[in-house]
Amino acid sequence: MRQRLPAQHYIDGILAGDRLVLSQSITLVESRRIDDQDIAQQALEAVLPQTGNSIRIGITGVPGVGKSTFIEAFGTYLTQQSHRLAVLTVDPTSQRSGGSLLGDKTRMETLSMNPNAYIRPSPAGDSLGGVAHRTRETILFCEAAGFDTILVETVGVGQSETVVHGMVDFFLLLMLAGAGDELQGMKRGIMELADALVITKADGDNKEAANRARVEYQNALHLFPPTGTGWFPPVLTCSALPIQSATPVGITDVWEMIAEHQRLTTQNGTRVHRRQEQQLTWFRSLLRQRLEGRFFDQPGIREQLTQLENQVLSGTLLPSPAVDRLLKQSPGST
Ligand code: GDP
Repeated sequence: MRQRLPAQHYIDGILAGDRLVLSQSITLVESRRIDDQDIAQQALEAVLPQTGNSIRIGITGVPGVGKSTFIEAFGTYLTQQSHRLAVLTVDPTSQRSGGSLLGDKTRMETLSMNPNAYIRPSPAGDSLGGVAHRTRETILFCEAAGFDTILVETVGVGQSETVVHGMVDFFLLLMLAGAGDELQGMKRGIMELADALVITKADGDNKEAANRARVEYQNALHLFPPTGTGWFPPVLTCSALPIQSATPVGITDVWEMIAEHQRLTTQNGTRVHRRQEQQLTWFRSLLRQRLEGRFFDQPGIREQLTQLENQVLSGTLLPSPAVDRLLKQSPGST
């Protein structure tokens, strides 16, 4: 059984930049146990003054677009520039198995051995679209442990993008050149959230197609409403895979662009505004989660729910009166 230590152990370890304690703290905050949660919250409050100083970057894209290859190249570049980088990856397959797949860690082989990088794969849990339910807290712990750049990776298959967009300063969408119209239609909503698009695998035979896609996407982005931040999302191309020992291309440009965004939004105040909005969203979603949890944890509620669901299924009861009945009969109702 996992040993639970006093909050001070986690606080001291995190502030000292101890990776083992950082990992333990994240495990604690991800735990569903109330006593784990209490200690994690104490630790979180204690380290709070040391948080907030990183650049938080969200990275998304469909499976196979090249996310882990990009993060490997981008992350290596950043550490060469003396940055300390935390990569939070979400393992979408863990939802069923209940645990994170170890395989995820070896996706970024070089980076995982880099002393200035910390990679944390987290189980997707049951939260929306595959974002770990404690990613926000994990970001804060990593910042307190001294990481100045945080990458949050998600698989661009659903609503996880909206959630990640709600916790980062910069949201990067990786795209493939030549993907069908169908896919691009599907991506429209996500494209509207993106602070930049990067066309991956711009090398070899794919180079020309990537450049064409860059122009097309740039034209498409012009049609979107302005972001209100003074920032116009650019489209870049990159090649992250070192082919025939050539170094990756376009990685520096991506970083310079993010740094430029950081400068602009810091100067015009929209960065602070975005973070304030995100705090409010976090508060609201926590409140909803707690209310929901409290409701469903009431004795007898699950049995009632099953009965009502069966009635709705068989067509003997409409959803709306079923909800009324559940709320009325629940022990917590007044
Ligand atoms: P993910 O599923 O989005 O994490 O994608 P991966 O990073 O695992 O990449 C999927 C495949 O695309 C792998 O076979 C990579 O080797 C390949 N790939 C990734 N980036 C590049 C690139 O810049 N150029 C080329 N040619 N292939 C790439």
